[in-house]
Amino acid sequence: MSKHHNYIAGEWTSSDEYQQNINPSNLSDVVGEYARADAAAAQRAVDAAAEAFAAWQHAGIQQRADILDKVGSAIIARKEELGRLLSREEGKTLAEGIGEANRAGQIFKFFAGEALRIQGEKLASVRPGIEIELTREPIGVVGIITPWNFPIAIPAWKIAPALAFGNCVVFKPADLVPGCGWAIAELLHEAGIPKGVFNLVMGRGSVVGQAMIRSPHVQAITFTGSVDTGRSIAVQCAQAGKKVQLEMGGKNPLVVLDDADLKVAVNCAIQGAFYSTGQRCTASSRLIVTEGIHDAFVAAMKEAMAKLVVGDALQPATQIGPAVDASQLEQDLRYTQIAGEEGAEIIGGQPVERDTKGYFLEPALFVGTHNGMRINREEIFGPSASVIQVKDYDEALTVANDTEFGLCSGICTQSLKYASHFKRNAQAGMVMVNLPTAGVDYHVPFGGRKGSSYGPREQGRYAAEFYTSVKTAYVAP
Ligand code: NAD
Repeated sequence: MSKHHNYIAGEWTSSDEYQQNINPSNLSDVVGEYARADAAAAQRAVDAAAEAFAAWQHAGIQQRADILDKVGSAIIARKEELGRLLSREEGKTLAEGIGEANRAGQIFKFFAGEALRIQGEKLASVRPGIEIELTREPIGVVGIITPWNFPIAIPAWKIAPALAFGNCVVFKPADLVPGCGWAIAELLHEAGIPKGVFNLVMGRGSVVGQAMIRSPHVQAITFTGSVDTGRSIAVQCAQAGKKVQLEMGGKNPLVVLDDADLKVAVNCAIQGAFYSTGQRCTASSRLIVTEGIHDAFVAAMKEAMAKLVVGDALQPATQIGPAVDASQLEQDLRYTQIAGEEGAEIIGGQPVERDTKGYFLEPALFVGTHNGMRINREEIFGPSASVIQVKDYDEALTVANDTEFGLCSGICTQSLKYASHFKRNAQAGMVMVNLPTAGVDYHVPFGGRKGSSYGPREQGRYAAEFYTSVKTAYVAP
């Protein structure tokens, strides 16, 4: 069994403890053993990053661009292998895993370009003869903490901009899925990243994550994960005066109006709710359907769900892989039980057995629900969605916005009037018209409102807001 070490100050560094990375489609398949670092290792990584920053912040943009471009090309060239690793450790289908790996490569290449396009502004002063220059400078050491559900894309969309804008990085992947994060570290090493500029420290959030957050040498924390963890990190960062960016949960609505193309609406709902086993912050978990199309929509959903193939993520026919681990499976089944107790009609949602022992379950549709139910307030993070019947568009919009979250809102309609109104009035960071709520491009901002996000947007040109600090210089002749 190969042991995967931490990457600190340009060296592969062994650890006292290692943990097994287990394939959720086949519990007898061990993907590898990965270091479980202690706080001292995290501190060494932070120190290495702080030391490297002095040189890296002034390294030419060509060097940064070249390294990021090399990593991007290498990921794309190896997307089948990396996608397979991803599917093996996280349980996404192979097609989804390869797609995510490819996207990670594209993100690195996008930020290779951004390194060359760092912009400033020149303005006249209100005092004659003086000129003002606005420039963007790196922040310093950025601590990156990522969740398990996008093991390669989320690390990519944090690491690539951090490095592109001249910061040094200490990266802690989710302890459940360290394999893809480790692969990124290997590719950065091979691409010639200078010693200490990028460090990988694997292990528990409460140990490694906390050591990063507490270190005075870390100037910024970017976090994606659950709401409770995110909020506590925000409090710590505020107290310590660190810059912080959080991407957290969702309870995303997909509105289906009477005039929707039924095929499009069902496709959006099936993909948005159930693909990636529903383990996406952008998953459509509330299907808000007007009364004229409700019965036809539910009937078509039942028919489509009956055809979905649940199974081993690596099998080509599989459309829905397993839950990521035992506790996520248990949570999914618990919410199905709650749905029953709250009076919903339940379609599917049962655990299923396959040739190998894994965390398999059927997608679940909860019909006859209302927006006050727990299943419609709390993030489940499994392959389940509720149908909420409403009278008309106005009620649909009210229900869609009646949530503590605001990541992505979708609508299926053929009416320009309603689509335009929804785009303007949905309280969400992202809006989809006749598209699934999950599934975004890599070159435009990603993020939400209300309880879903905190701090500047990620991705696209807007990433510069978080990863740089603006300087205003006044120059007299
Ligand atoms: P989580 O909050 O349990 O863990 C996220 C990361 O934080 C992990 O690396 C974990 O080790 C670390 N962590 C845990 N406790 C910590 C602590 N006390 N201090 C520092 N770090 C700590 O979340 P998860 O279960 O890995 O991911 C699922 C959640 O992520 C869901 O709620 C989902 O909605 C959310 N998510 C959000 C987005 C988004 O962009 N909005 C994207 C993907 C996932």
